[in-house]
Amino acid sequence: MHELSICGSIAEIVTRRASGRPVDTIHIRVGQLRQVVPDTLVYCWNIASADTPLDGSRLELEEIPARIKCRSCDAVSDLGEHPIMLCDTCDGADVEVITGQEFIVTALELAEV
Ligand SMILES: [Zn+2]
Repeated sequence: MHELSICGSIAEIVTRRASGRPVDTIHIRVGQLRQVVPDTLVYCWNIASADTPLDGSRLELEEIPARIKCRSCDAVSDLGEHPIMLCDTCDGADVEVITGQEFIVTALELAEV
């Protein structure tokens, strides 16, 4: 499962940053193009973190909508619900993704000891 391997990456990052301190909440920014289902990710996290030092920590997701910029006409388009990599203005396919590919652990809240 896609989400399960993502959880593995999160665990790795968080474990390194927390360096042994108990973690309460993990803030994550995830782009639309990552095609992550938030509920599934949270569910997988609970399984993946069980019986590890991160057991009991919570994921807090912030979803970033996908946006592209056209290299031909410089127009910026929101991809919306059905991501198609074409410029809204000129239908050009020479586009650059500006946002939507994020996958960042933005902050950790440590648990009170
Ligand atoms: Zn264009």
